[in-house]
Amino acid sequence: MKPAPFDYVRPGSLEEALQALAGHPGAKVLAGGQSLVPLLSMRLAAPAVLVDINDLPDLDHVRVSADGVRIGALARHAAVLRDPDVARVQPLVPLALANVAHATIRNRGTTVGSLVHADAAAEMPMVLRLLDGSLDVAGPGGRRTIPVAELYVGPLESSLHHDEIAVEAFFPALAPHTGVAFEEIARRHGDYAMCGVAAVVTLDGDRVVQARAGYLSVSDVPAVIDLTDALGGEVTEASLAAAADAALEQLEPETDIHATADYRAHLARVLTARVVTAAHENAREARS
Ligand SMILES: Cc1cc2nc3c(=O)[nH]c(=O)nc-3n(C[C@H](O)[C@H](O)[C@H](O)COP(=O)(O)OP(=O)(O)OC[C@H]3O[C@@H](n4cnc5c(N)ncnc54)[C@H](O)[C@@H]3O)c2cc1C
Repeated sequence: MKPAPFDYVRPGSLEEALQALAGHPGAKVLAGGQSLVPLLSMRLAAPAVLVDINDLPDLDHVRVSADGVRIGALARHAAVLRDPDVARVQPLVPLALANVAHATIRNRGTTVGSLVHADAAAEMPMVLRLLDGSLDVAGPGGRRTIPVAELYVGPLESSLHHDEIAVEAFFPALAPHTGVAFEEIARRHGDYAMCGVAAVVTLDGDRVVQARAGYLSVSDVPAVIDLTDALGGEVTEASLAAAADAALEQLEPETDIHATADYRAHLARVLTARVVTAAHENAREARS
């Protein structure tokens, strides 16, 4: 199908882009277009105006420091994925990005666009939630930082106002004595997953002092569950089963054309055990 008619503007500064959004309540931001353009083509979205942000200056950065990774609104998934410093400071970011779509889509799609698009089947919103990151946005009243706990409010719905532009995402660095892991099951590599799970496990000596897992495609918004108590300080067959039980008490997988709710629950259970085991192993290696 063809999109419904729309006006198109391509401002050269953030101020002009914000003015364009403020002047057209029916406007939408266009970044990589890898989610928005299909929605337009299927007429699931019909904005009156597209505000293309690709000419805005100074937004294609990937900045890495000891406290974490800062990703500008025009940094493509592919640029973040191949940055060796990102992998060093927060390895969960490339682990998850390698599962985002296919290379052609990663060359065009932006990580910040994915965060704003707020798809609970997508990798990066879940990873931002799991790592307790944040999103910086600019609006008519200036800039604000949205902690990820306040970012996802419903299916495909973030708490950005229609006249705001996300300028930078922040993914905190890996803490000491901590390991991470990510795994998902998709029908084909690069497709949206039927279920995906990431884990972050922190040790004090041999004891697990914190374990959290993030889930995609099993809830309306990206889900994060604290598994620390269920694990009881150690990773064994019994504690992994208890952790998966604890997770499934809080998740609400649904049936759709890709998988039944029962199958998704099964995947969540199996993947929880796998990623917690792998993250635990990585934490032990980091310690030695
Ligand atoms: C075939 C296919 C398979 C895919 N598979 C996956 C997958 O497995 N996992 C996955 O995570 N994604 C997948 N994607 C989506 C891809 O990752 C997109 O690139 C991403 O979701 C959106 O980024 P974008 O820059 O393309 O945003 P756009 O498509 O340009 O925008 C998406 C939405 O975010 C808003 N937006 C974007 N940037 C900003 C900003 N800076 N400020 C305010 N609003 C903004 C837009 O207005 C729009 O509502 C797939 C896409 C396709 C076409």
